[in-house]
Amino acid sequence: MKHGCPNQNCNYHQKRESIIKDGTFKRRDDSRIIQRYKCKSCSTRFSSSTFSLAKGQMKRRVNRMVYELLCSKMSMNRIARVLRINPKTVARKLDYHAKRCAVKNKNFRAYLRVKQVEHIQFDDLITIEHTKMKPLSVSMVVNAKNRSILVFELHGYLQTACLLKSLDENMGSARVNI
Ligand SMILES: [Zn+2]
Repeated sequence: MKHGCPNQNCNYHQKRESIIKDGTFKRRDDSRIIQRYKCKSCSTRFSSSTFSLAKGQMKRRVNRMVYELLCSKMSMNRIARVLRINPKTVARKLDYHAKRCAVKNKNFRAYLRVKQVEHIQFDDLITIEHTKMKPLSVSMVVNAKNRSILVFELHGYLQTACLLKSLDENMGSARVNI
């Protein structure tokens, strides 16, 4: 068991010394056998899924499919229809996946801090929003080894316009085309 006693008032809070196994139960939702634990000090009972982000979910089986369909730009109503689940469930799954990805991203950032990136590649895209009078600049830096995104920034049209103006002035007769 990775976690200790979840009871904040217990003397063994977040410590594993007082934890003993306390039977199992079959989770109805995905038919898995889940281990139960008990704190000897305060008698608090909990399980290995108490600390999971998916705690309390009733439709764990569709989590992966919802994630893949959301990433494939399918609408939430359509996902609900295809997977035969309630649209409210899809909305809750979106929140769940957002939290899960935030944790994943945090771990990835921590990993980057420990492991130094040796080789980076960057590129800048200048595009427009609605009209050519509103240019946008999209800058991105990636790790050359595995193409993971390190920095991604979107500059507003004012900053880009100033940049283009100074570029135009510095380049003299050469025109800067957007
Ligand atoms: Zn306890």
